[in-house]
Amino acid sequence: MQFRDLKAQYSALKGEMDKAILDVVASSAFVMGPKIKEMETAFADYVGVKHCVACNSGTDALLLALKVWNVKAGDAVFVPSFTFFASAEVVAMQGATPVFVDVDKDTFNINVNDLEDKIRQTLKAGKLTPRVVIAVDLFGLPADFEAIRQVAGKYGLYVLEDGAQGFGGRIGNRKACSFGDISTTSFFPAKPVGCYGDGGAVFTDNDEWAALVDSYHIHGKGSDRYDNVRIGMNSRLDSIQAAILLVKLKAFADHELTDINKVAARYTEKLEEVAKTPVVPEGFCSSWAQYTLQVENKTVRAGLQAALKDLDIPTAIYYPIPMHRQTAFNYLDINSNHCPVSDQLADTVISLPVHPYLSESDQDRICDAVSAFLKR
Ligand SMILES: *Cc1c(COP(=O)(O)O)cnc(C)c1O
Repeated sequence: MQFRDLKAQYSALKGEMDKAILDVVASSAFVMGPKIKEMETAFADYVGVKHCVACNSGTDALLLALKVWNVKAGDAVFVPSFTFFASAEVVAMQGATPVFVDVDKDTFNINVNDLEDKIRQTLKAGKLTPRVVIAVDLFGLPADFEAIRQVAGKYGLYVLEDGAQGFGGRIGNRKACSFGDISTTSFFPAKPVGCYGDGGAVFTDNDEWAALVDSYHIHGKGSDRYDNVRIGMNSRLDSIQAAILLVKLKAFADHELTDINKVAARYTEKLEEVAKTPVVPEGFCSSWAQYTLQVENKTVRAGLQAALKDLDIPTAIYYPIPMHRQTAFNYLDINSNHCPVSDQLADTVISLPVHPYLSESDQDRICDAVSAFLKR
């Protein structure tokens, strides 16, 4: 059994996919070209924002947003401690200081009360200027952007939505990747919409910021191709990946998002009595980048993981080490960055196989195995 079955997806899409890839090969337009514009328009339309700029990864997308806002040494950027490393790494890459915020134990997303506490503590210490909050849509569930906006507005912070796992999620009728002043996503193969390699995108309604991202992602280009007006990066999406993503987006919107939600609903129905199942608040919709249970403690989790492995059921631990305990961030003062819920989650979470092509018999086999172990 696969954790996320990309081969099953390819089998389902093969005819269309092979043609899309070979068309780009035949055109020889490998870098930029018409496929990129077509893909950017399709993704901006799907999300419901004015601009999408495709780039080389979700990490670069975050970095490009921070460059647009000139985030630099002396700035504080608030980041949830329970996330993938890249959400915080980009802050340090810009020379700014990540300030870690705890998360909510039900949604895994940033805890807005702790966000305000950490902003106040930062202001009181008087060493850093609060600039940005990076809110992550963890495991596919949008963060609570209404509450985040209120706090951000009060302290004059930009909101950067890290939608690397959130693409396809919703709050009411609004889609993920439209909630930030700038929002980003990742097209890493295992994300809700993945390409066949690395890829990412930046989304915004702001014309000026979109133009800056466009410049930064191609060596700080100006209007004249060889007059570069700022120091940028080489972070283009390959045209082949754009063609792949157009096929993937269609399948995602047609049925994959619905199908994965069916899998998640069935899991919750069968497992809510034996483990803490993921909470999706009223009015929110997840795209299920992960389906993550919480069990009693680390020992139970290790036992469950081993028992499932014996039955050829793969699982994963996202994430075993919160940001405030990462070796790379040892240089920060972790005492003032205390995040107890993130610490607890790191010991108790376990993610089950979840994807739109998971058969009902496999779903049942997984649920039966989890229940049998946890009921013991
Ligand atoms: C995957 C991921 C990223 C980075 O995306 P890449 O495309 O791998 O660079 C950033 N943030 C979160 C929350 C992610 O899950």
